[in-house]
Amino acid sequence: MIQANEQAIRQVVQEVLAQLGKRASGLTSSGNGHGSNRHASGDWGVFRTVDDAVAAAAQGFEKFRNVSLENRGKAIACVYRICDEQSEELGRMELEETKIGRLDHKIEKLQIVKLVPGIEFLKCDALSGDHGLTVTEYAPFGVIGAVTPVTHSLPTLAGNVVNMLAAGNTVVFNPHPSGARVACEGVRRFNRAIYEAIGVENLITIVGEPTLETAGQLFEHRGVRLLVATGGPGVARAALASKKRAIVAGPGNPPVVVDETADLENAARSIVQGAAYDNNLLCIGEKEVFAVERIFDALLEAVGRHRGFRLNRSQIAELTKIAFAPPEKPGGHAVLNRDLIGKDAAVLASLIGVRVPAGTQILYGETDTSNPFVPEEQMMPFVPFVRARDAMHAIDLAREFEHNFKHTSIIHSRNVRTMTIMGRTMDTTLFVKNGPCMAGLGSGGEGYLSYSIATPTGEGVTNPLTFTRQRRCAMVDDLRII
Ligand code: NAD
Repeated sequence: MIQANEQAIRQVVQEVLAQLGKRASGLTSSGNGHGSNRHASGDWGVFRTVDDAVAAAAQGFEKFRNVSLENRGKAIACVYRICDEQSEELGRMELEETKIGRLDHKIEKLQIVKLVPGIEFLKCDALSGDHGLTVTEYAPFGVIGAVTPVTHSLPTLAGNVVNMLAAGNTVVFNPHPSGARVACEGVRRFNRAIYEAIGVENLITIVGEPTLETAGQLFEHRGVRLLVATGGPGVARAALASKKRAIVAGPGNPPVVVDETADLENAARSIVQGAAYDNNLLCIGEKEVFAVERIFDALLEAVGRHRGFRLNRSQIAELTKIAFAPPEKPGGHAVLNRDLIGKDAAVLASLIGVRVPAGTQILYGETDTSNPFVPEEQMMPFVPFVRARDAMHAIDLAREFEHNFKHTSIIHSRNVRTMTIMGRTMDTTLFVKNGPCMAGLGSGGEGYLSYSIATPTGEGVTNPLTFTRQRRCAMVDDLRII
C-alpha cells in the first residue's frame, strides 16, 4: 500500500516537473511572443536568437534521423498542402508585407511549390564486381543554415524546406528582414502540421527578427554544417567568403536574343510573359532584349499586341531618371531606386504622367546599351530593347550584359547553329530557347522547379540531392549475386 502511494507520488512529481521544465524552456528559448501558438520548445520554430534556432534544429535533426522515409514524405506533403490550400492567404500576406510584385503571381508561386521534388528524387548507386558490392548512399548533412530573398520570401523557404527535408536535413532560416513576417508564419504552419503528422518538431527553425548580424552569426555557427544563400551580390559574396561549404544562388541579369528566324509572335508573347511575372522580380526574368535589325521594328510591334505598352524616347528618359541615380563614382553602377522594384507597369507609367490601358503587363521601348536598364538587374516591368546588327552581335551584347553571372539567358530563333553558338558563348546555368524564362524551371518546359538556382557554386537548379553528402558502403567479396 505504502509502495503504491510512493509510486503515485513519484509519478505526479515527475509530471509536474516535466510541465515546469517545458514551460521554462518555452519562456527562455521561444520566439517573439505570438502567444496563442506558443509551443514548448519555441513558437513553432520561430526563435529570437540564432543560438536557440540552431539548437532546436539540431535536436530536431537527432529525432529526424530515426524517422522513416515514409514519414519524411508525410512531412513534405504538409508543406505542399499548406502552400496549395493556403496560397491565397499567404500570398496576400507576402504582398502586403513586402509591397513588391503581383498578387496573382504571389499566389501561383506558392501553388507550384508542389513541383519542387521531394523524396522521390533520392537514389543510391551501386557498383558490383569481382570484389563484391559497393553502395553509395546520399546522406543528410545535419543542420543547414539558409538565407532567403525578399523577392520570393515564403516560396523560396518552402522550396528549400521540401528539398532539404527530403534529403533528411533540418534547416535554420535567416529570412530577408522585409519578408520575415510571412516567412515566420509559414514556418509556424509547416511545423505545426508536421508535428501533427509525424510527431517531430523543429525540423524548420527561423530567426524571428533577422538582421545582417544574425545572418553573420548563422554563417559562423558551429552547429551549422552547410550554408545555402539565395539573394543578390552582397549575400553571394558573404557566403562565398565563409569558411563553411556554401551553395550560392546568386544574382542574374538575363538577356534575350531574338534573331531574324524567330517566330516573332511567340517571342513577343514569351518576353511579356516572363518579364511581367511578379513584375519582373524573378532572377530568371527577361531583363533586356537584343534583337537583330531586320526584325527589330516588327518585334516591337508584336510586343504591343501582347499587352506591352511602348514608351517613346523621352518617356524612357524620364522613367530612367526616376529609376536610377547616377553612379556614385565614375564608371560605377547607376544607383537603383529600390522604391520602384516590383511595382506594377501602371504605377511606373503614372510616375511619368502616362496612363496605360487596364491589363498592361509591361512597359517597353528602344534604348541603347548606355541606358542603365540594360546593365542593371532592375527587377521592374520595363524592358529595354536594343538593336543589334546581326545574331552574332546580339549574342556578344548578351554576353557582355549578363556580366558572367552564368545565371540565365534566352534566345528566340529557329536556327540551330545560332542557338548552339549562344549556348556555348553564354555558358549560363539556364539556357531557354523559344519560350518564357519559366520554361527553364518546369513551367512550360520539361524539368522540375526550384527557387534556388545555384549559379557561382555550380549546383544548378537545386534538388534534394544537392543537400546530401555521399557515403560509400563496401562489402568485400560478397553480395555480387551474378
Ligand atoms: P538581397 O541580396 O538583398 O538579400 C538576400 C538575403 O541575403 C536576405 O536574407 C538578406 O538579408 C541577406 N543578406 C544580404 N546581404 C548580406 C550579407 N552581406 N551577409 C549576409 N546576408 C546578407 O536580395 P533580395 O533583394 O532579397 O533578392 C533579389 C536578389 O536575389 C536578386 O539579385 C536576384 O537575382 C537574386 N535571386 C537569386 C535567385 C537564384 O536562385 N539564383 C533566386 C532569387 C533571387
